Amino acid sequence: MYGYGGKILRVNLTDGSIRTEATPADLARHYLGGRGFGAYFTFHEIPAGADPLGADNRLIVSAGPTSGLLIPGAGKLDISCKSPLTGGYAGSNVGGMFSAEMKYAGFDSIIVTGAAAQPVYLYLANDRVEIRPARELWGCGCFDTEAALKKSLGEEFQTLVIGPAGENLVKYACIGSDYGRQAGRGGVGAVMGSKRLKAIAVRGDRSVPVADLGAYREQSKAMFAACKASPALGAWQRYGTSGVTTWANEIAAFPTRHFRGGFLEEHATLSGEVMREKIVVTDKGCCGCPSPCGKWSHVRRYGVRVEGPEYETTALLGGDCALTDIEDVAYANYLCDDLGLDTISAGATVAFAMECFEKGILTEKDTGGVKLEFGNPRALFTLLERIARREGLGDTLAEGVRRSTQVFGERSNDFAVEVKGMEQSGYETHRAPSMLLAYMTCDVGAHHNRAWAITYDLKVGRDLVTADKAAAVISLQHIRPLMDALGCCRLQWVELSLDLRHYAPILAAITGLDRSWEDLLQISERIWNLTRLYWFRAVEGFGREADYPPKRFTTEPAVGGATAGKLTAWDDAMRLLDWYYEQRGWDTNGRPMPAKLRDLGL
Ligand code: SF4
Repeated sequence: MYGYGGKILRVNLTDGSIRTEATPADLARHYLGGRGFGAYFTFHEIPAGADPLGADNRLIVSAGPTSGLLIPGAGKLDISCKSPLTGGYAGSNVGGMFSAEMKYAGFDSIIVTGAAAQPVYLYLANDRVEIRPARELWGCGCFDTEAALKKSLGEEFQTLVIGPAGENLVKYACIGSDYGRQAGRGGVGAVMGSKRLKAIAVRGDRSVPVADLGAYREQSKAMFAACKASPALGAWQRYGTSGVTTWANEIAAFPTRHFRGGFLEEHATLSGEVMREKIVVTDKGCCGCPSPCGKWSHVRRYGVRVEGPEYETTALLGGDCALTDIEDVAYANYLCDDLGLDTISAGATVAFAMECFEKGILTEKDTGGVKLEFGNPRALFTLLERIARREGLGDTLAEGVRRSTQVFGERSNDFAVEVKGMEQSGYETHRAPSMLLAYMTCDVGAHHNRAWAITYDLKVGRDLVTADKAAAVISLQHIRPLMDALGCCRLQWVELSLDLRHYAPILAAITGLDRSWEDLLQISERIWNLTRLYWFRAVEGFGREADYPPKRFTTEPAVGGATAGKLTAWDDAMRLLDWYYEQRGWDTNGRPMPAKLRDLGL
């Protein structure tokens, strides 16, 4: 099959069975790969009542049809499962080299089920697949685990690993790869930990078959040339995502003191420019990337090296916790990456705890003597360690914000900033209706990457609440996740204005299947609706209320900056949701209607 590794690998860690099957051509036609495969297998194979941390859950690792080929940013991997954080669908994306390597070994998806009795890792080298003991790696941080595997197997092996947070089933534990890339959101690392699967190491040396080599080379060259010619390339490569920190603060979208506002007075100390000057050593990119956004930093004060911090990390570990020194933020970033914590949920959860401390809901008795004040880097570092090891207060916070409110009491629920149980990522949404709707309706919880709609708010006016905003969110929710199904990065389109019209012809050249851009968007819509159906099946009572915004943005006016004193009226949030459902072909409870499912072939 052109464009694919050709095999699905299935591993059952309970009984040790391993089998491979051919990648179904129909599956590729209807779901492309990557996130599409992840959504399909999640819906069809994870039982409705499965415990996310039980043997029935599946860890589904999928490459896309572009993975391993010369296409800008074709180094993205999807990891799907039932989320231990939200109880619904988790689809987490990680860049680096793993997706290319698994394609070279011939795998489109690796599906792990069951749970091993003792710690193990999965060894894949072309057709050779083994479950190997990993007792000596258990307890190690992500960096040491990767280094040990590469030392014993060879540098050419690419790895997915978990740290202590994944082992200890922290609900927002991540999976690390390539010394600093993470599948961060939804607790995919905890699912791996629940299976006592410390790592997956893969090596392959096969070619990916391409249907029309001439057309593929022509399109590929055109795409790289367009990226190189982009006037935005220089700044993007110099600062990566940290280049938006100052902009986000200026428009009051930079989460500050637990989302009470979007403006941090001392933001200049966290800017991309300061970061580049003070700590960045070199640039680092995913497989085949012409515009590497990764920044490899040396944090001299703490004697560590880390990839980052990228914008989201600075927003949540920095602004949201009111840290104002880039070296402190970078060290917190290092701790999260090594312990295996999602920097977004970890930062948001500690910021939530800081507000509880400020309001007297938590005291020093609860924190074990830690002065859990905003702006206290030592308190943040201590909490991150305790969360990963589930010590003291860390054991509660390891469950995430929503479950912590059940322990801390009703008062804390008023300022919990999460949707569907997932902590909100790095955009403050008191007065950004499109972005707020994007968080409300995102298919994994309050995550930004499905629809970065704040630019639409700025373009048409952020005070406006119109049906067009729902349309803009839906459109983005089809384009951006489509990239995750193809296996490539969206940032060349977003940041370098790479023309979307390149994608259908190059996919046709690779796979031999002639599909228009509109066909591809319909596949993306199919995936979106399938994951929505999964939520209804997996979460009892799921419906409209699950899409409600965090109370804070509709009840407490923003503090500081350009949006000071503003909020989004509850009725406006509900109008947006009504328009969104209507335009999607869903009923008023947010369930896809039969006609829509028929249209999509579901
Ligand atoms: Fe990876 Fe960044 Fe390049 Fe995207 S832009 S492929 S995330 S390095």
